[in-house]
Amino acid sequence: MRTTATKMGLNVIMMGAPGAGKGTQAGRFARERGLPKISTGDMLREAIKAGHPVALEAKARMDRGELVDDETIIAIVKDRLQQADANRGFVLDGFPRTVAQARALDEIMSQRNNGPLIVIDVMVPPEELVRRLAMRRICVDCGTNADPAAIDSCLKCGGRLEQRADDNQDVVRERLNVYTRATKPVLEFYRERPTFRVVNGAQPAERVARELDMMIADAAGTEASL
Ligand SMILES: [Zn+2]
Repeated sequence: MRTTATKMGLNVIMMGAPGAGKGTQAGRFARERGLPKISTGDMLREAIKAGHPVALEAKARMDRGELVDDETIIAIVKDRLQQADANRGFVLDGFPRTVAQARALDEIMSQRNNGPLIVIDVMVPPEELVRRLAMRRICVDCGTNADPAAIDSCLKCGGRLEQRADDNQDVVRERLNVYTRATKPVLEFYRERPTFRVVNGAQPAERVARELDMMIADAAGTEASL
């Protein structure tokens, strides 16, 4: 039995400030649905390791302290979305970061013609973000964010946990300001769409996960009127 919903891709953008838990939720949702989680940061790192010319050019730019331009990021994402594992949908983490990227994604989506774009904003009040980020520790060996349940060693590899050097409160606040300034226009770009949802990320992670699943199911059933 096939319904329209199963033929449509589940195309999700996960947005949220650093510390909002967006990466964790994106990873979990992607795993549970068998969808690729596409993080532009990860992709860029992998492409640099593999020596792709576009990525090396981007790295040179980052090394000079410049931002990677929209065109490069869009090209990388477009290429990734054309791979077979993204046919049934995807979970985007860290993209789009600008309105130009969002417009380019709309164009890619209309070419794919494979279900609506569901945009989730994982919202956490700034004070809670500051508190979370100030507590955040990373593993010295494998670099992953420490699970809050870990006491003094990494649950993944057993490595030593250390507070992130840049996570003092002023730096944290400034990072959040930069995020808010940069992302606001993108959120405004999506906000009026019938497939835009806000989840309260200040709740326990399992609760966020449950609400998020319901919101995505609901949005997927919504006719997108772009
Ligand atoms: Zn580790």
